Amino acid sequence: MNLFSLTTVGILDNVARKRIADIFPSLLDNVRYVVKDHLPYSINEIADGAYDNGIVYLHSRSILETAIHKIGHAIHYQLFNGEALGFHAYEIREFINHKEQFAEIFTEMIMKKSQNKQLDIQEEQCFKMILDYLSS
Ligand SMILES: [Zn+2]
Repeated sequence: MNLFSLTTVGILDNVARKRIADIFPSLLDNVRYVVKDHLPYSINEIADGAYDNGIVYLHSRSILETAIHKIGHAIHYQLFNGEALGFHAYEIREFINHKEQFAEIFTEMIMKKSQNKQLDIQEEQCFKMILDYLSS
């Protein structure tokens, strides 16, 4: 038995994976990452998580959206080479770069899909991009 799955962070990762798999059943078969239940030392205490080179860092105060966002980074790097995919930042987050844009749009798309809410144009584009990847 994997004891990590019983920790707060392990449970959060499992909930995030299930939320993603409800929408894209095979997506995470194509993505590899490990989860650490602390932040990398270089990240300040206020951060709610981090992603670096196949490692998702979460802690006990991280929320579901944070976990999905970090997994979104792994998906972006591993399936789309971390490239700019033509998304633009939402108005309130215009400081973010294309990597953060993907992770944010991916997270919004997963959260809205799971609540049967309507996607905006970019979320729809992200949804189709992943479907295309999975059917290629
Ligand atoms: Zn991020």
